Amino acid sequence: MHIAIIGGGFAGLGLAYFLTESKRVRVTIFEALSPGAGASGAACGLLHPYPGLGARRSKLASEALAVTKQLLRFAEGFTPKIISCQTGILRQSVNTEQQATLTSHAQEWGDVEQLEHNLFLIHSGITVHSKNYIEGLSQGLKMRGVAWEYQKIEDLQQLDSFDGIVIAAGYGVRSFPKCNALKVKFLKGQALSLAGDAPIEKSLISKGYIAHLENGATFEVGATYERTFLDDKPDLETAKGLLAEPLGKCRESEILACKAGVRVCPLEHYLPITEKVAENVYVFTGLGSRGLLYHGYFGRALCQAILSKNRVLG
Ligand SMILES: Cc1cc2nc3c(=O)[nH]c(=O)nc-3n(C[C@H](O)[C@H](O)[C@H](O)COP(=O)(O)OP(=O)(O)OC[C@H]3O[C@@H](n4cnc5c(N)ncnc54)[C@H](O)[C@@H]3O)c2cc1C
Repeated sequence: MHIAIIGGGFAGLGLAYFLTESKRVRVTIFEALSPGAGASGAACGLLHPYPGLGARRSKLASEALAVTKQLLRFAEGFTPKIISCQTGILRQSVNTEQQATLTSHAQEWGDVEQLEHNLFLIHSGITVHSKNYIEGLSQGLKMRGVAWEYQKIEDLQQLDSFDGIVIAAGYGVRSFPKCNALKVKFLKGQALSLAGDAPIEKSLISKGYIAHLENGATFEVGATYERTFLDDKPDLETAKGLLAEPLGKCRESEILACKAGVRVCPLEHYLPITEKVAENVYVFTGLGSRGLLYHGYFGRALCQAILSKNRVLG
């Protein structure tokens, strides 16, 4: 059985990892640019169960985190570069509601510790170097036999010879008519890479965030949430303006680069979309701000759905 995946971001790679666990499945990834060219390469790498303004624990967080850790370990075997820092993430509450929510998490879940009245350490938090992770994962998938074709898919008919097609094209999903009915919105995000040591010892989420692997030569300040935008390209002046608050903590550091991508967010919930949109055609999108948390868990679920429908045994 030969599956075509359109898109080499977190979604496509997470799915390919599980599909290639079955020896009877071959996978080809079609990527318009390069692995991680979309939102995944721009991601600041914060992986933890409590994203978003509400700071509530995400659904399926424990299970999803465990699957992502499995993928991180796999990717680490295929690159000498540092992929993750697993010493926790600080979260500073920005209003009384967040503080109350995080305080209750500290009592209810074993992975949140209240350090000060408004400062919490998420012990389960991991900072991922997205580019290194994608590099390791892509390399590992090549070793498992995944083929990469660097071309933009304009029409699904180009892939007629495959037994199954999965559209995991991130923002590119909007150019596939079969995905027109998906209930999603698009949110541009930008982040800045800065030189030197971060001003705090661990990654910090507050108004905006500062993300870093400990002892790194660079760190990231992010991210914007832009509802209206002209394109998915970096726009340094807009990013600097929207990130003024976290940037204020980093006055000593030079800005090296501005990264941008577009998040695909489901309209009615925050769980990713894994749907069959036509015979043998599936879509895997809607990872929103939780790409790192959910790409493995939902990639595995979609893999199981595809294999069971086609009765492929491992
Ligand atoms: C600035 C920023 C910061 C973020 N920070 C975090 C974070 O800290 N933690 C976190 O968990 N999430 C974060 N996110 C969200 C996360 O990046 C996304 O959830 C995730 O990257 C979505 O992955 P994806 O594979 O669905 O899409 P993408 O990563 O966009 O991948 C889609 C791929 O498909 C390719 N493609 C598109 N159309 C076609 C076509 N027609 N043919 C062939 N290829 C095609 C693209 O080139 C691209 O490589 C952040 C996002 C942004 C923008």
